[in-house]
Amino acid sequence: MGIEIEFIPVGDNTKNGDAIVVRYGEEGNYKVMVVDGGTKDSGNKIVQHIQEYYDTDYVDYVVNTHPDSDHVSGLTTVIEELEVGELWMHIPWEHSSKIKDLFHDGRITDNSLSEKIKASLNKAHQLYEIACEKEIPIYEPFEGALIGEFQVLSPLEDWYVNYLLPDFPSMPERKEESTLRKAFSEAYSKILEWIEETWDKETLSENYGSTGSRNESSVVLYGNINGYRVLLTGDAGKQALHNSADYATNLGIDLRDCRFVQIPHHGSRRNVSPSVLDRIIGEKVEKDTSTTTNTFVSVSKETEEHPKKVVTNAFIRRGAKVCETRGSTIRHHKDMPARTGWTAITPLSFSSEVEK
Ligand SMILES: [Zn+2]
Repeated sequence: MGIEIEFIPVGDNTKNGDAIVVRYGEEGNYKVMVVDGGTKDSGNKIVQHIQEYYDTDYVDYVVNTHPDSDHVSGLTTVIEELEVGELWMHIPWEHSSKIKDLFHDGRITDNSLSEKIKASLNKAHQLYEIACEKEIPIYEPFEGALIGEFQVLSPLEDWYVNYLLPDFPSMPERKEESTLRKAFSEAYSKILEWIEETWDKETLSENYGSTGSRNESSVVLYGNINGYRVLLTGDAGKQALHNSADYATNLGIDLRDCRFVQIPHHGSRRNVSPSVLDRIIGEKVEKDTSTTTNTFVSVSKETEEHPKKVVTNAFIRRGAKVCETRGSTIRHHKDMPARTGWTAITPLSFSSEVEK
């Protein structure tokens, strides 16, 4: 069994998103999984890519990590243009009855809350509607679910429904102020200064704010393909990643054994911390040790904001090779057929200055 993981570029200018295609198995019996679809444009690219390189119109699994439009929009194109076996996405509007009592306004009914959620997540709702029309089975990816050879490590259903969902942007005012939402808005500031960083001096903070509840709700996927371990993180934040590492430990899985890891949230510094990276990549290695983990980060062609150098340094310092999309499709493969005309990617190098 082999595996290939390909990041399709999202965003011509400065807006980031994710569009990932995974194929694994043996020749003649491959499974195809799409994880997030980026924009409409990247959705078209996914369809072309699958038809051209995988020579098929069939996708076994489509996974939407979270309902942000830069992750979900292109999936609509995928399910419209290709034949899809299963769709995995959260259906937040179906959980409204469980959380309506958390809000200040006593007039909120299940139905009005449900409609409000649908309206605020209209791209995800659109995907859901089309899948229903096409009679594609839809499942919710919560901790413990199995999607082919992949396993969902986060979010736990209870955490999602009772803690994350009520904090989604555009939800009604809470009876009690939400700590997550507060931490998020406080940390939102632009970088003004650069500071020096060395191999031994890590400035990545343990407490650089939170990434927000919608990102924390991202599906974290772990796959073990014939001993080759892979971790896909969406826009998951520190809490979701710590939860994933806890759950993996309970299953007897050490995430540091993963040979491919997606850098979450386009390399934002609110999503990882030294303690998270020590658990999912490993602790700092000696400088110039050969790399053991391949990491990909999806960033738009022209962004200067992402990936944060303080984040890429933190991965490199732990023995990771970091590659970014920046307008191109990038492919990582293990025991899969070679593809003519494709050249090796140049990884990012360690930076001597990072964002303060
Ligand atoms: Zn994103």
